[in-house]
Amino acid sequence: MAWKTSAKIKSPKRTRRDLWVGFKPYGIGETKPNHYKEMLKTLWENRDNLPYAWRILHRGVCDGCALGVAGFHDWTLSGVHLCTTRLNLLRTNTMGALDPDRLADVAPLRALRNKELRDLGRLAHPMVRRRGEAGFTRVSWDEALDLVADRLRATTPDRFAVYLTARGLTNETYYVAQKFTRFLGSNNIDNAARVCHAPSTTTLKQTIGVAATTCSYTDVINSDLVVLFGANVANGQPVFMKYLYLARKRGAKVAVVNPLREPGLDRYWVPSNVESAMFGTHMTDEFFAVHTGGDLAFVNGVLKVMLAAGSIDRAFVDDHTTGFSELVAALDAQTFADLERQSGATHADMERFAQMYVTANSAVLVWSMGITQHEHGADNVAAIVNLGLARGNVGRPGAGLMPIRGHSGVQGGAEMGAYATAFPGGVDVNAVNAAALAEQYGFPVGDRSGITAAEMVEAGGRGELDVLYSSGGNFLEVLPDPAAVEAALARVPLRVHQDIVMSSQMLVDPGDVVVLLPAATRYEQRDGGTETTTERRIAFSPEIAGPRPGEVRSEWEIFVDLARRVAPERAHLCTFASGQAIRDEIGRVVPTYAGVELLATTGDAIQWGGTRLCEGGVFPTPDGRARFLAVAPSDAHVPEGSFVLSTRRGKQFNTMVHADRDPLTGATRDALFMAPPDIAALGCRDGDRVRVRSVDGELFARIHESPLRPGNVQVFFPEGNVLLRAGRRDAASGVPDYNAIVTVEAAPR
Ligand code: SF4
Repeated sequence: MAWKTSAKIKSPKRTRRDLWVGFKPYGIGETKPNHYKEMLKTLWENRDNLPYAWRILHRGVCDGCALGVAGFHDWTLSGVHLCTTRLNLLRTNTMGALDPDRLADVAPLRALRNKELRDLGRLAHPMVRRRGEAGFTRVSWDEALDLVADRLRATTPDRFAVYLTARGLTNETYYVAQKFTRFLGSNNIDNAARVCHAPSTTTLKQTIGVAATTCSYTDVINSDLVVLFGANVANGQPVFMKYLYLARKRGAKVAVVNPLREPGLDRYWVPSNVESAMFGTHMTDEFFAVHTGGDLAFVNGVLKVMLAAGSIDRAFVDDHTTGFSELVAALDAQTFADLERQSGATHADMERFAQMYVTANSAVLVWSMGITQHEHGADNVAAIVNLGLARGNVGRPGAGLMPIRGHSGVQGGAEMGAYATAFPGGVDVNAVNAAALAEQYGFPVGDRSGITAAEMVEAGGRGELDVLYSSGGNFLEVLPDPAAVEAALARVPLRVHQDIVMSSQMLVDPGDVVVLLPAATRYEQRDGGTETTTERRIAFSPEIAGPRPGEVRSEWEIFVDLARRVAPERAHLCTFASGQAIRDEIGRVVPTYAGVELLATTGDAIQWGGTRLCEGGVFPTPDGRARFLAVAPSDAHVPEGSFVLSTRRGKQFNTMVHADRDPLTGATRDALFMAPPDIAALGCRDGDRVRVRSVDGELFARIHESPLRPGNVQVFFPEGNVLLRAGRRDAASGVPDYNAIVTVEAAPR
């Protein structure tokens, strides 16, 4: 079971001089992350707790992205798996307790940035702030939980909602939180997967019958072609660059479809590989610059090229799919002229991509939030799935569909049922499935979907929620239009913020009362916990001995305790004595997770569904076939002189900003990424201060000249959220649209 017994891929000894950037040991002098400096910084930051920090790194499953690693080793490669994202997050696990007196007055805290709030220390004691009070007062766990339980008893299930972050939480926490919510009669539970990969979940379920990556990382390494759509893995999943490097060494080609030629995807120095560290590696063969949101039109253009050339895999399409003729009819109605305008790419680009794609015997199609965080996110994903199915790139070695996950809890959170639109196992919410779950749980389960993340905040703003319970996360920074979010949060009578550190949303004035509950980290969680990685691997992270700040509690224990206080007469239906008991139940209730109950030590993991899903073109759909979806792009309607703006990440982990300067691009947090022709047309220069306006807001920024498709600009998330429209989201999946139409004008220096 453990990684120690798995066959892992070794780096080929043969060098590939044709991939070298040049003799620049460790990319010296280049704009790139300095991994050794980051290691020293991590040592310094954690100097007061080094033995514990080491044990976390040595034994824990990384709480960063969802690539997945246990200790220093993963299940794919021989050698060390470590990145600066994990090192940057380490301090949140090792820091000491926050002095509760610091919260006595929230006014000065409001001036602090989130990083400064985090640096105050671990939230270590239950705290309460009532309306009209300047700040928080320390209370006992009993007082805090009785207060919450009283309010939960007094409300109705439709006026109560639970939201969980996707960082650091374990499957055990997600599972118990969703059971607790349903135990109270509500399906209003959602997690951060809603704001990133919900379109992937929705569309994959609809097309191939299963909402997960179909292949393994080994397929990436053994593929002929890896395509990255709207994914900057150099930033989001740094060790994936090592997988790409190995794929390159074995002869794979890499194509990137993105508005910006990301420097980290262009040239990269893999620190743990001598050849790459010394000479750098050209990581991408071909970049295809598309407009923001132009991917769907680009892919449809590629499919039209393939149709015209007769390079569709007809045997696979005929034997294993449905809906192809409808797709062809839809593509016939789309002209190349339209698709060129909508995509921002040329017909020649589409032909060049098609040539790469059809000459590859296998391809893995990888995508991320550049695809999903759009008003038409689910359609964007459908286009990529169509492309994969058209060449049978599913369910065979070296081929697959991979919605790459940026947070360690995103895959498991939804699969555990902490999701407004799914029961445990990703099962649809309907009367039949509700009855089946009710039978297992011994209490009634609602048969209608709950409200999603953004809908919870909107419901709060309309006065339709009495209790909003959030475990981690920060709506104030995650959702578009922070002013609207703040007003909405301030209207909710009871907000519960269960977390490991302070965040700005905790400081929003109480509608009536705000309760802070100090949570344990995944490494402190009693009896350990599991996480599910992008490649569907359920990995065990043990409880790690070390200091425990103040009165922190495992999150699943808090939900169990609350269930007992809200409904003592039937609390036995929602109780767990141990982490093992939770895993035992998960193994029974979620058939794909059977075996999770056997995981017990670092390195233990099972990959649900096996190495590949849909092997042999057999899909878990009612007819066993995959389904093409006929999707059509639309025009962005950008007025003359305006730009399409999208939000991007820098040196940060979701809203947790780690540095003011992004080492991959050299951009500071106030950067407006802009193409040279657009800068010239404005009469501006690199570094000039500008005002960026949308109909919803404005911000001041500094031009950062970038290799971007002209007509598009980018700013960092969450700073750019002030420009975004609240309530605009993908109808199919509920993901907010993180893009806007903006104007840019010179501003006084
Ligand atoms: S690539 Fe992801 S899983 Fe691996 S160490 Fe970095 S943050 Fe953790």
